[in-house]
Amino acid sequence: MSLANTYARYPVEFVSGEGAWLTDSKGERYLDFLAGIAVNNLGHSHPRLVEAVREQAGRLIHVSNLFYTEPNVRLAERLCARSFGESVFFCNSGAEANEAAIKLARKHRPRGDVIVALNAFHGRTYGALSATPQEAKQAPFAPLVPGFRAVEASDVAAAVDADTAAVLIEPIQGESGVNVMSSELLAGIRAACDEVGAALIFDEVQTGMGRTGSLWAYEQLGVVPDAMTLAKGLAGGLPMGALVIGPKLQEVFVPGDHGSTFAGGPLVSAAANVALDVIDDETFLARVRETGERLVAKLQELPYVVSVRGRGLMVAAEINVEAPKLATRALLEQQLIINATGATTLRFLPPLIVGADEIDEAVDRLKKLDI
Ligand SMILES: *Cc1c(COP(=O)(O)O)cnc(C)c1O
Repeated sequence: MSLANTYARYPVEFVSGEGAWLTDSKGERYLDFLAGIAVNNLGHSHPRLVEAVREQAGRLIHVSNLFYTEPNVRLAERLCARSFGESVFFCNSGAEANEAAIKLARKHRPRGDVIVALNAFHGRTYGALSATPQEAKQAPFAPLVPGFRAVEASDVAAAVDADTAAVLIEPIQGESGVNVMSSELLAGIRAACDEVGAALIFDEVQTGMGRTGSLWAYEQLGVVPDAMTLAKGLAGGLPMGALVIGPKLQEVFVPGDHGSTFAGGPLVSAAANVALDVIDDETFLARVRETGERLVAKLQELPYVVSVRGRGLMVAAEINVEAPKLATRALLEQQLIINATGATTLRFLPPLIVGADEIDEAVDRLKKLDI
């Protein structure tokens, strides 16, 4: 096999998709409750997304960031209009968005520390990895970038001091199993940052773009950051990341400070504009909250489920059987795509267009597993 040995892949090859369904090379249909890891928020082959990408690909794909393009400028304006943002730096992934955020924080307070929470996940590049305090991911790649301090989420506020450049935190931790930070905890961190002039940066790479039932998770948590990072669902499946910069940090970057050749091209920007058209709609977001509640309620009926947590369609179930084995059986025996984020944790990230009938179907398939 000529693919690098960095993933434990399942023995399934997909060839097409529609809505919440994928079809493999044998013609078998699968119900997708992972959505490319919170990427395909519009589902597969959404007609408006496909049409916009086709149209833009035939017009203009790339020109570099030495010039403007209409889809990119419009996207930046829309992201700012619908958040605390004053400006947006575009990139191509979540890790890169966090790299940009870390550089922004360091330039704001030179040589300052970046405080992160234990169990956080911010990406795999060196800066983002240094902000990801997980032994198995970090240890083989030491030495890491200096200047990161990892503490329990509940101790972050107390850890902020005059040497702190920023707190970088996921409002809901995704990769470590959908751990929701409380409004009180985040408000405490906000106050601690304000006291010393440190930046509060939310990593909304997974929680953004409607995943939790509001366009951004911070809107439901009632705490506004100074910057936030986006990627995953931003361009409906195409690779795009962004750092949204609020008023406090607006003057920090100047030309030459940061850049990326591919970033914010017209093709991915056109896709992201369609993703926003569909998702940034109160009726759509209300449905995300409703289907999310239905999923939580249904999962609680399963005999091996101990507890369920989450927001909107970002849901995890704590179970009393081995989660990685169950996820594999769900895939191979029931054609249901879910994933395990830990030994006893299952995560559900269906596309946001998922129907109530498909929620019921997914839980029925889990029931049929007979565990
Ligand atoms: C996935 C993820 C990242 C990394 O994104 P990549 O596009 O894989 O680099 C960073 N932060 C969070 C919260 C994520 O879920």
